[in-house]
Amino acid sequence: MTRQRIPFIDLKAQYAASKAAIDRRIQAVLEHAQYIMGPEVAELEARLADYTGARHCVTVSSGTEALLISLMALDLKPGDEVITTPFTFIATAEVIALLGGKPVYCDIEADTCNLDAALLADLVTERTRAIMPVSLYGQPCDMDAINAVAARHGLAVIEDAAQSFGAEYKGRRSCHLSTIGCTSFFPSKPLGCFGDGGALFTDDDGLAQAAREIRIHGQSKRYHHTRIGVGGRMDTLQCAIVLGKLERFAWEVERRKALGARYDALLDAACIQRIRLREDRTSVFAQYTVLLDRRAHIEALLHDSGIPTAVHYPATIPAQAAYRDDAAAASCPRATVAAQRVLSLPFHPDLDEPTQDRIVEALVAACGKGA
Ligand SMILES: *Cc1c(COP(=O)(O)O)cnc(C)c1O
Repeated sequence: MTRQRIPFIDLKAQYAASKAAIDRRIQAVLEHAQYIMGPEVAELEARLADYTGARHCVTVSSGTEALLISLMALDLKPGDEVITTPFTFIATAEVIALLGGKPVYCDIEADTCNLDAALLADLVTERTRAIMPVSLYGQPCDMDAINAVAARHGLAVIEDAAQSFGAEYKGRRSCHLSTIGCTSFFPSKPLGCFGDGGALFTDDDGLAQAAREIRIHGQSKRYHHTRIGVGGRMDTLQCAIVLGKLERFAWEVERRKALGARYDALLDAACIQRIRLREDRTSVFAQYTVLLDRRAHIEALLHDSGIPTAVHYPATIPAQAAYRDDAAAASCPRATVAAQRVLSLPFHPDLDEPTQDRIVEALVAACGKGA
């Protein structure tokens, strides 16, 4: 008997559930035709600022651009150091390198795979300008501990919240936990649009103003360029799509939490190691990730039973060719091990319990089969 292949994430089901709201929003843009910086841009920024609790939200063309514009707004200079995690999507370190800065890698906690704040203080030098923690898989880092180190040394903290929009840390929302928070609306993220998009959040009026200018070619008013910027606006259409999707977002966050807790319980019962969720925070599970010793073997068996998986991420940043730094890689042994062991399972808010059971059964069976 061949069973239907399970989707890794299900964007078609999500669209079907919000079709009326999204279609109405798209139609409104087609009719007013203000495709660039139309009214939906400011409307979305107000809604998201309100949701996170941040004073300012600035939408931009992608999550990567949000990180880049944040560092530009902080006036990062060539040679400046930014402490970040070696275990993340490439964009986090990429934007630092792009501005001539130096990424300095802080090893991760083995059980959350998030940056280990206890190791931070030893990495600060007189060239350090900022700390850029990543809320990996949807769970914020220990932001109080990170902010305390930053405050002692006069550093900015940029949360890379590309995977964690909707998550909470001690009752506060991700993106509003530090100097600047950056998120992504890439389609597969917890709050996605239908293309590229992103936003940055801050309580700092000066940084918000700088970011607004940088995203539109450093322009303070039309054809007056007061700083060097980029072409980094988010399309009106993409903002409209996010507005349409927001109607269901609270339900999706709750559903993500419930399905994540259900995976946790099922995997704990089967003694399969998984990412731990700290008690003082929530995760939106951009990925649901387990830690396995014979990953390639188990992955192959799962694929044979029609269960797609993904690896986030197969190598640390300092092990990547363009960022090669053997000493830095050696200083982050837990990240190196995580890159060999992590495996993400199908996860999305429209996943149903019987399918989740089927995934866990197949994983348990695969773990039991000889190497
Ligand atoms: C997706 C992602 C980004 C980049 O977001 P884009 O919108 O794709 O540019 C940056 N950092 C992390 C951790 C991500 O997961």
